[in-house]
Amino acid sequence: MEINQPQTNPLEQLEASIQNQESRLAADSRLPKSENSPFTSNGKTQPALQTVWSVEESEKLYRIRGWGEPYFSVNAAGHVTVAPKGDRGGSLDLYDLVQSLQQRDIHAPLLIRFSDILADRIERLNACFAKAIARYNYSGRYKGVFPVKCNQQRHLVEDLVRFGQPHQFGLEAGSKPELLIAIATLNTPGALLICNGYKDLDYVETAMLSQRLGHQSILVIEQPEEVNLVIEASHALQIQPILGIRAKLSAKGIGRWGNSAGDRAKFGLTIPEVVVAVEQLREAGLLAALQLLHFHIGSQISAISVIKDALREASQIYVELARLGANMQFLDVGGGLGVDYDGSKSNSAASKNYNMQNYANDVVAEVKEACVEANLPVPTLISESGRAIASHQSVLIMNVLGSSEAQDLAPEPAQAEDHLIIRNLYETYQSIDPSNYQEAYHDALQFKEEAVSLFGFGYLSLKERARIEGLCGACCAKILAIARQDDDVADDLEDLERRMASLYYTNLSVFQSAPDTWAIDQLFPIMPIHRLNEEPTQRGTLVDLTCDSDGKINRFIHSRDTKPILELHPLKPNEPYYLGMFLNGAYQEVMGNLHNLFGDTNVVHIDLTPMGYDIAHVVKGDTIQEVLGYVQYDTDDLIEEIRKQSEVALQKQQITLPEAQLLLKNYERSLRSYTYLTSVRVKPEAKTSTANSLSQATS
Ligand SMILES: *Cc1c(COP(=O)(O)O)cnc(C)c1O
Repeated sequence: MEINQPQTNPLEQLEASIQNQESRLAADSRLPKSENSPFTSNGKTQPALQTVWSVEESEKLYRIRGWGEPYFSVNAAGHVTVAPKGDRGGSLDLYDLVQSLQQRDIHAPLLIRFSDILADRIERLNACFAKAIARYNYSGRYKGVFPVKCNQQRHLVEDLVRFGQPHQFGLEAGSKPELLIAIATLNTPGALLICNGYKDLDYVETAMLSQRLGHQSILVIEQPEEVNLVIEASHALQIQPILGIRAKLSAKGIGRWGNSAGDRAKFGLTIPEVVVAVEQLREAGLLAALQLLHFHIGSQISAISVIKDALREASQIYVELARLGANMQFLDVGGGLGVDYDGSKSNSAASKNYNMQNYANDVVAEVKEACVEANLPVPTLISESGRAIASHQSVLIMNVLGSSEAQDLAPEPAQAEDHLIIRNLYETYQSIDPSNYQEAYHDALQFKEEAVSLFGFGYLSLKERARIEGLCGACCAKILAIARQDDDVADDLEDLERRMASLYYTNLSVFQSAPDTWAIDQLFPIMPIHRLNEEPTQRGTLVDLTCDSDGKINRFIHSRDTKPILELHPLKPNEPYYLGMFLNGAYQEVMGNLHNLFGDTNVVHIDLTPMGYDIAHVVKGDTIQEVLGYVQYDTDDLIEEIRKQSEVALQKQQITLPEAQLLLKNYERSLRSYTYLTSVRVKPEAKTSTANSLSQATS
């Protein structure tokens, strides 16, 4: 593995890199948004694909610069490379890495975590706030926290705490289990431990007692009922807590999590409730404990204007709380800092129209303005950025097991004695040209419909029907090839691309590894990690291993829009084909479920070293035995049951002894093995375009 390790001053480089990104953002906003794909923004196709394919074309096609910079790019060999320290350090070849892991029996599907990317994200966030604080001459400081719910994996949280130490980066807990993680893991003096979520007495007491251990734990009141709980616990324990209040803002969030804000939000106190809480705390002699205001208007906020509105409202609430006599010290702006999944730098749901520096600038500037006007000291600023910290560090690698690639075989000519529909369809096939392809499409579908009904009445043989379906598929393929060249495709042909797409069977459970693609239509960038110097001539959708028709991915990033297909390479016999799903380090792992009993995938942690890289941890994925345990099967019982069944079968002479032994051996070995497929060889099924495409084209 080759590692390039330039000698640089990391902080200077970080500054330069952020500036770089900023100027690129400015430059990009002047460019037309649809330049980097074979489709134009209205989903139509552009003229002819070139015969020679360059890695630059792959970079454009998969938009890797948009969503991947500064961590991911493509090298001259056509492999994706990872530069975990951004443009401040070395890079490694992702395909080579996957191969060398494979040689160590660490198979796909595989989640690779780059701890250096995590470190870089923390550095960047802190550098952006430091820059904003300097720029606006803000007299307070920034102390971020990582919301544990975003990714609770131990190695990651431990890394995060370690990397965050120079910035006193803390943790946010949203539940009792997360609180227990945070108290045990956070060992940075002065870092904040923000205690959010629903609370019972145990939660409140544990949080308060953790102050005695030296933690700066701040209990954020999220429900009116929690006020009394906190007062009682404080009196009983004789501990003066640090309290916060989460306010329901009227400024609306937008997008998927838009209703995290507003009067109907699940968490937080309405303004009347805030006023009541302040009076309760005053009466209990705890008003001085109230030091923090918190809000959270949802995740993945794509428009900076929404963030600004929320900041303005929250800053005023902060000022008013101080006027009511609270000892205000902290303003916690929650999460919401977005990730540019589609690389469009727009306010589309999978993107964001601002960068991290813009965000930090707005937080600092808005809060300062409100405080200066009210003649108040400015607060310590807290953000609970989860997605923006954790997304980039992990890459999911999946291998393709096979595909239903269409092969362009010309259909067999019709003969005089063939059925009329066959002859008509063949004639249609031959006649297709740019002037009539839309009409031909309707004719072909009509012929096929007629054939299905004739077949139902017994007037067509199975072989005849097969030929008709094949011919219809050939027509559709020919029509699609023409439609792709046409700038002005009719509506009824728009989804032909989707219908004709090849299916790529991936060694993956969407429900386990990318649940949000299924649950909330989240987009993640997906692309091959090799062969990027070859033209991807196939157009496919991905299907997974589960027996669930929802186990598929058929929406892909595309400028501000989405596209129904992904450009992929034809499979080569006995050569693995690897796809990467990027930016999926936030929320996916713990949300993943055991549908069809596909368990956790293998996980490796990679650290960059001056010599190359180090496999810091390997967390083997679930074995079948483990997932069966989750649903209460005891493997010894299962094996014993198979042994008994074998004995009975042996007595009845239904099975031979060697067969019985082979069965038992396979059964036991399978129990100890990965839940995904490991012993498959890629081999494209030899199908004619016709038979295959037709059922898809007309289903
Ligand atoms: C989920 C959540 C976050 C994290 O939000 P991101 O958009 O991932 O940064 C922060 N704070 C609270 C209260 C949350 O519920």
